Amino acid sequence: MSLFFAPLLLFGLQTPPPSLLVDDLRILSSDRMEGRAPATRGSARARAHIVARLKAIGIEPLYARYERPFRARHRGRPLNGINVLAQLPGTTAASDRAIVIGAHYDHVGIIGGAIHNGADDNASGVAALLAIAASLRADPPRHRVILAFWDAEEPGFYGARAFMANPPFAPERIALNINLDMISRSDRGELFAVGGVNWPRLQPVLDDVAAEAPVTLRFGHEGHLAKDEDDDWTALSDQVAFHEKGIPFVYFGVEDHPDYHQPTDTFDRIPLDFYARSVATIEAAVRALDARLDEAVPRP
Ligand SMILES: [Zn+2]
Repeated sequence: MSLFFAPLLLFGLQTPPPSLLVDDLRILSSDRMEGRAPATRGSARARAHIVARLKAIGIEPLYARYERPFRARHRGRPLNGINVLAQLPGTTAASDRAIVIGAHYDHVGIIGGAIHNGADDNASGVAALLAIAASLRADPPRHRVILAFWDAEEPGFYGARAFMANPPFAPERIALNINLDMISRSDRGELFAVGGVNWPRLQPVLDDVAAEAPVTLRFGHEGHLAKDEDDDWTALSDQVAFHEKGIPFVYFGVEDHPDYHQPTDTFDRIPLDFYARSVATIEAAVRALDARLDEAVPRP
């Protein structure tokens, strides 16, 4: 548990969550962002906010600039996206291996005149990643960490796949992907961590995180734990771009809710207390996986 979230522990769970986390969530899901569809004015505004926050935190870009454009084709038409990529150096010799922590910032934009704000999907993951970035800046990780704000997840994981098609260094040096996508809403107070069935050596670390987590951290939605093929989340978010290249992943997310991909996925429907505990749980997992990376992802 980092200093960043210590107030939650000291003052109990009724205390309002850290304000920057909530501010970022509110701003990124505001109407001004127009639903953050790729290659739109709203997307550019969201990106500018993310970059400004990274600069304020003091985290360097991965490349010369934070913005990393890519081109793809979606349903026969060109798609121009822009990832935002930053990095923190590791503090140990083990930092020759990197952890990529990602969250997609795009959403589906304006449909039928209605702004789809995407507060849970996935302003929640982006604001969380910014909070975790600030924590890692204050208390640096052992391994190199790449912070990836992906574009064009919604049409088909194009940002993450563009990154893996042209990685910044040999892919063998990317040890693990941690993906945050829809982490803020659960009537049952449950957050899922997916990856430990596909990549069993991760599971003991995740079990230890679950034992101490301020939410109910559950496992499922993959392999034999999935009820059926549609219930398997392995290939349903950006982690698939890593998994399909043989790189282990942990995906954090909640179950679908009635506002999923609706104009009603708005800031005011986010239970901020659960959200803060969800972010604290993910941060604890990041710390544990960084500390025990050689155990969770053995060197080849
Ligand atoms: Zn999403």
